[in-house]
Amino acid sequence: FKMYLQPKYSITKNEIIGAEALVRWQHPERGMIYPNEFIPIIEENGFIKKLDYYMWEEVCRFIKKCLLDNVACCPISVNVSRIHLQNDDCIYVLSELIKRYDIPKSLLELEITETVDDPQVSMMALHLKEIGYTLLMDDFGSGYSSLNILLETPFDMIKLDKKFVENMMVSSKGRIILEQVVLMANQLNLGILAEGVETKEQIEQLKRMGCDQVQGFYYARPMPNEAFFTLLEKQNRQA
Ligand code: C2E
Ligand code: CA
Ligand code: CA
Repeated sequence: FKMYLQPKYSITKNEIIGAEALVRWQHPERGMIYPNEFIPIIEENGFIKKLDYYMWEEVCRFIKKCLLDNVACCPISVNVSRIHLQNDDCIYVLSELIKRYDIPKSLLELEITETVDDPQVSMMALHLKEIGYTLLMDDFGSGYSSLNILLETPFDMIKLDKKFVENMMVSSKGRIILEQVVLMANQLNLGILAEGVETKEQIEQLKRMGCDQVQGFYYARPMPNEAFFTLLEKQNRQA
């Protein structure tokens, strides 16, 4: 397994403001295998916990390297499978990693996917939030109860699902909905980021609507951590 990092950009600053860690499976014969092919299976058999712990540690290691090399690091988010939210294990694992690598909590952000409105998930999220983690609501707009979850769960930021952004942009009705979601996020003091942005037109529309943070192929694809490190170094030199 290998950690890839996909940069998140600010449209107005035109610079990297964060990254998301995404797993890749480098199979000796079959080549690169993407997570959609194996995550559902390992979520069934429980192996997802081990894989996520590995990814979280890789991110901590990366952040530590930046700190040691004096390269200004941005927050990096990890995916937290909902399997973790069934008990407290993940809290201990995260605390132990933060302590062992001696990195600020603020640089490790947690992405939680909105699914059904589940009190257990809200409770765990609340707990994580109380001990100082930044919580990102992943795939906003892909489910049915996004708005309920926003009320119940103390997220810091919403990540608009790729399909949601695409669907909403192609009609005037959709654009009103998208604009109002951006407005709502602002009024709730929530950060907002659009995922899967691929075109200049999307960037311009998002900018006009006041959604400044984006992640998508338009700016950069997920890349090996070494390549992301080089990008950060370059940005540091330009600053
Ligand atoms: P996600 O968390 O919604 O991650 C975003 C996905 O969108 C990534 O797919 C990314 O490569 C892709 N993407 C980003 N920008 C664009 C774009 O402009 N166009 C298109 N077509 N795609 C774009 P990826 O890496 O294949 O991951 C798929 C899903 O697998 C992720 O969706 C996430 O739910 C899950 N996943 C990935 N890595 C991990 C992990 O380490 N742990 C867990 N639990 N889940 C993971
Ligand atoms: Ca994610
Ligand atoms: Ca997503």
